[in-house]
Amino acid sequence: MKEIILLKDGEIALKGLNRYSFEDTMIKNAKRRLSSLGRFRFYKAQSTIYIEPMEENIDMEEAVERLKKVFGIAAICRACVAEKDWEQICSLAPVYLKDILEDASTFKVTAKRSDKKFPLNSPKICAELGALLLEKFPHLQVDVKNPEVIVTVEIRDYAAYIHGGQIPGPGGMPVGSSGRAMLLLSGGIDSPVAGYMMAKRGLELSAVHFVSPPYTSDRAKLKVIQLAHLMTPYCGNINLYVVNLTRIQERMRDGCPEDLFTVLLRRVMMEIAEHIAQEEGCSALITGESLAQVASQTVYAIACTDAAARRPVFRPLIGMDKEEIIRIARSIGTFETSILPYEDCCTVFTPKHPKTKPALQMVLDAEGLLPDRKELIQEALSSAETVKVTLSGAAGYIE
Ligand code: ATP
Ligand code: MG
Repeated sequence: MKEIILLKDGEIALKGLNRYSFEDTMIKNAKRRLSSLGRFRFYKAQSTIYIEPMEENIDMEEAVERLKKVFGIAAICRACVAEKDWEQICSLAPVYLKDILEDASTFKVTAKRSDKKFPLNSPKICAELGALLLEKFPHLQVDVKNPEVIVTVEIRDYAAYIHGGQIPGPGGMPVGSSGRAMLLLSGGIDSPVAGYMMAKRGLELSAVHFVSPPYTSDRAKLKVIQLAHLMTPYCGNINLYVVNLTRIQERMRDGCPEDLFTVLLRRVMMEIAEHIAQEEGCSALITGESLAQVASQTVYAIACTDAAARRPVFRPLIGMDKEEIIRIARSIGTFETSILPYEDCCTVFTPKHPKTKPALQMVLDAEGLLPDRKELIQEALSSAETVKVTLSGAAGYIE
């Protein structure tokens, strides 16, 4: 029995003339995700994207699992392909849908007949196939309002397709259709979720992670590479820059007021991220900040941090509770790695009483106490290490 996958797009369908370029980006991303499973042919017709396996024994279940993580897809149908021949449809449907119909107690049949030359109209397809399935699966009952299984027959241009309903896709916009942004990726729970959420709005990601050895360990860095890797099924490949802040942090500890330490560090991070964003062609920065979560995330501290960035800073978690963030982290599979107990450079030399209402002038004055601040930032940038984190799992160093 020949199977195919049909993809329906959601928000993209509202894009008017631009729709095709969004669809092409989504197809490119889907192709990349499926390529290691075998050969597929992709084509578009009648607002649907068709993915046809071109080899025997392709793992279609795994293909569907992977497509559930490709942004832009609103719904996925795994369907059986039949000739546009009523007898063939009637003989294939009970065999193809056997497992799900045996497990269900209610069903209904729907039909879409876009090829009007097909001799049976939609109500007739529903009535006849419904009767046939009731006969073959006598435990079933028809429920038109709230059925467990919706058997669908689509009579389209090239063939007829039979399936047991749509699986929801991840929605959103195809990664790459909105450009590229630089994610400040810590080892915590929040920033991977922030990256995931902005990738869902079509941004391709690069990432920067700050370390402070020997105060932070190699294992903390490996954990962040692992987190970036866990994000790739959704976000695609990620160039991860690892930047060493040890010298800057030690100089700040020795020369700047302790209570401003966090916000000073945050501004250094923003400035460095800006430089790398420029090189990587990123139009925005992304952080996992959530208003009032910690001292550096008060509205006053965020205002000081923002002043160090020229690009827009996207903070998709700004209005979310930790519980809501954790729910997403669990669903995308980053939570268990995020909670591994390794150090972060933010917790090195943390002030006992961080200022929760810093004023920008106060912060700029404190920065003035480090006359070689610019050189220290340049030095950190020039020693950045770059890791290419790829879908296949091989995290190779690209320098
Ligand atoms: P997370 O759970 O993502 O670590 P958090 O609640 O611990 O966030 P902070 O440590 O204040 O909050 O960090 C706020 C944001 O700053 C992070 O979400 C991240 O975007 C960025 N950030 C913090 N530490 C680092 C780091 N070591 N490298 C890169 N970005 C960082
Ligand atoms: Mg953190």
